[in-house]
Amino acid sequence: MSDQQAPLIAAIEMGGTKIVCGIGTGPHDIRATHRIDTTTPEETLESTSRWLSRAKTEHGQFSAIGIGSFGPLDLNPKSEGYGLITTTPKPGWQQTDVVTFFKNRFRVPIGFDTDVNAAVLAEYLWGAGQGMDPLIYITVGTGVGGGVLVNGQLVHGAMHPEIGHLAVPPPTNSAAVQRECQCPYHKSCVEGYVCGPAIAKRWGVRADMLPMDHPAWEEIADVMGHALMNLCLTLSPKRIILGGGVMEQPQLIPLIRGRLIHHLNGY
Ligand code: ADP
Ligand code: ZN
Repeated sequence: MSDQQAPLIAAIEMGGTKIVCGIGTGPHDIRATHRIDTTTPEETLESTSRWLSRAKTEHGQFSAIGIGSFGPLDLNPKSEGYGLITTTPKPGWQQTDVVTFFKNRFRVPIGFDTDVNAAVLAEYLWGAGQGMDPLIYITVGTGVGGGVLVNGQLVHGAMHPEIGHLAVPPPTNSAAVQRECQCPYHKSCVEGYVCGPAIAKRWGVRADMLPMDHPAWEEIADVMGHALMNLCLTLSPKRIILGGGVMEQPQLIPLIRGRLIHHLNGY
């Protein structure tokens, strides 16, 4: 079936900073997209709903809505809290019922998952992860998160993977101005060293302003290398895809690959 004949789908990517919504039949047939700043849940969901209604008038009725959201989320369809953003540190967003909100407005089936599970599924179906199973997608941005696909299915389990909080050894002999892990929950986790805000705090310079040859990148790559080693050893992925704002740094991929190989030490 070509994209043109496939049903219209509405898509919502909910981020801590912005919401991106779209309508189309697939990645090669996106009819419209729109960006909304993430403010309070009420205001943000209302603006998103208004845009979807307009999109429906302009492009036709959509048959489903797919939502990828920042979390943590309740993804257990049997749970009373299914469809909620649960214990997020994002002010005002705790226990926000996203699925019921859109279900009541649009009366169509809703797909709901983490932003990174949505990303890993998209990469698997259309992107850099085609034919790669198990597949992992990791974003290094405002936070660090990861989605996992095994046997063609997204991994949920008791909750959903939280790759950003994998424990890693504290960097030794760090030259950072603020050496500590910045995660409020953990003493030494990936996110606490390598997410954008943690980089800024630890090195005293915004991540996107750090020069390419700054020693911070080697330390960031080393931490990522430890995380990827743990993932390789537990999930045996065929591919790991790295995205997010921090990964815009072109020097990072070869540095991380080098540290992963170093840590694996021939194993
Ligand atoms: P989000 O996590 O909200 O989806 P991003 O993935 O764009 O958004 O991540 C934003 C973070 O990435 C910010 O902390 C920012 O400092 C950092 N960032 C954005 N661009 C770059 C860049 N070119 N180099 C390094 N860090 C960047
Ligand atoms: Zn943590």
